[in-house]
Amino acid sequence: MKKTKLGNTDIYVTPIGLGVLTIGNTQLDLPLEEGAEVVKYAYEKGIRLFDTAQYYETYPYMREAFRDIDLSLDNPDRPIIASKSLDHSYEEMEAAIHECLDALGIDRIDIFKMHEVRQEPDWSDRAGAWQCLIDYREKGIVGAIGVSTHHVDITEMMADVPECDIVFPLINYAGLGIRKGAGPGTAEEMEAAIRKCLDAGKGVFAMKAFGGGNLTGTYMKSLNYVRDLGCHSIIIGMGKKAEVDDIVRYAEGELPDDYQPETRDKIIHIDQGDCEACGACLSRCPNKAIFWNEKGLADVNYDICLTCGYCAPVCPVRAIIMW
Ligand code: SF4
Ligand code: SF4
Repeated sequence: MKKTKLGNTDIYVTPIGLGVLTIGNTQLDLPLEEGAEVVKYAYEKGIRLFDTAQYYETYPYMREAFRDIDLSLDNPDRPIIASKSLDHSYEEMEAAIHECLDALGIDRIDIFKMHEVRQEPDWSDRAGAWQCLIDYREKGIVGAIGVSTHHVDITEMMADVPECDIVFPLINYAGLGIRKGAGPGTAEEMEAAIRKCLDAGKGVFAMKAFGGGNLTGTYMKSLNYVRDLGCHSIIIGMGKKAEVDDIVRYAEGELPDDYQPETRDKIIHIDQGDCEACGACLSRCPNKAIFWNEKGLADVNYDICLTCGYCAPVCPVRAIIMW
């Protein structure tokens, strides 16, 4: 698979990256060997960018998948590993970087990011963690630093942050999950922010091209939209080898324009770590299939859920996903 230079960094990535979240315990919760096999298969099929996070608890899968591969700078064809942390302070971020290095059995990592930066004052509140990333890049322990975000304003702001190498924004043609300030943002607004980052030389890889699985029914349209924005890579969560085969064929230009993968076995999930209990999905569900669970968060009654997907677009924080 052809590689592209990631903005002004000296890192080269494939147009598709594997989002390792999917195999972990917040989604498919695959056994170690099975999950590692998916990661290894993606590498064997040519994918060279793998995005994970401290929060996903997926480092063991990656260590197992890459145990026979030289992950050092000496190997120009190594899998580029990107991780991230939700932490705020210098000390917490430092611990997160070391946890990652230890768990993967490496002494440097290509990319480490601030995970899910929200509208101000979140960025300012996390100044300690950001300084830690700057220092670790200086020491050569982290190759490139940046942020992941669902927010238009943060994406736009990062174009003007000189220390920021990488921006990992949420974008899809339907605008699902995009935030601006304290409210929703649009796909057009995020497109403009991404363009600003690309013009500023940032490395940009995009998340949620399928809107958390809700746009898989328009497979080619979803991928083509993000590809045509000029992002250097699109991170796709995959938990099956067949999904890897599809995406590799897409990247190689081998899929017909009307290609549509089988999606009948997918169901709606509400991520309990993301739900903010706003109630919008309860009002939207035509079949009253969403209820408040014992934690006071939204949950799905699968006995009556129609898998229509109507609830997902109204969720302001993209907590409703389909897999
Ligand atoms: S998928 Fe449809 S039926 Fe199921 S919870 Fe969402 S809106 Fe309700
Ligand atoms: S719309 Fe999203 S944030 Fe609001 S209650 Fe439903 S799942 Fe939670």
